[in-house]
Amino acid sequence: MKDANAIKEDLSQGNLAFISKFSKELPKHISGQSPPVAILTCADSRVPPELIFNAGIGEIFVIRVAGNVAFDSSVLGSLDYAVAHLHVPLLVILGHSHCGAVNASESGPGDDSSIGQIIEEIRCAFGTGDNIKQNVLRQIELLKERSQTIARALEKGQLEVRGAIYNLEDGKVNWI
Ligand SMILES: [Zn+2]
Repeated sequence: MKDANAIKEDLSQGNLAFISKFSKELPKHISGQSPPVAILTCADSRVPPELIFNAGIGEIFVIRVAGNVAFDSSVLGSLDYAVAHLHVPLLVILGHSHCGAVNASESGPGDDSSIGQIIEEIRCAFGTGDNIKQNVLRQIELLKERSQTIARALEKGQLEVRGAIYNLEDGKVNWI
């Protein structure tokens, strides 16, 4: 692995490439955002929503957290913002194959560290069937209890929440 300075230099080079590619487009987004969808997915570096869905700047409101779980106020607040202020009609919880957070959760209970809390949250979903899928389905189910904003939007028919799994093997997203 490179040292931090070399990595930072790589990032700066990448940023220059980004600027040269998007410099004409960037001003269009200054006035605000109106993404049609919010996606909660894993922080895993192999799961970049904009690339997976061939989307550009301003097209997806993305929240990424290990194990795509929504149980703390920073994640729930971000989702609430997308629903209450950006009025997204669709919220997707996107799990993925070979998820390290789910794998770690399968290895045993979590401790009282922050990582341990994520592991315990994922473990609550375990039962019959595929744990990656069960985790997504449980998060969707609990959103209604954990967020009054989302519950109200669902009741009014202003929002749909859908689950999906991204397959690292072939890039396919399967809706569940
Ligand atoms: Zn993951």
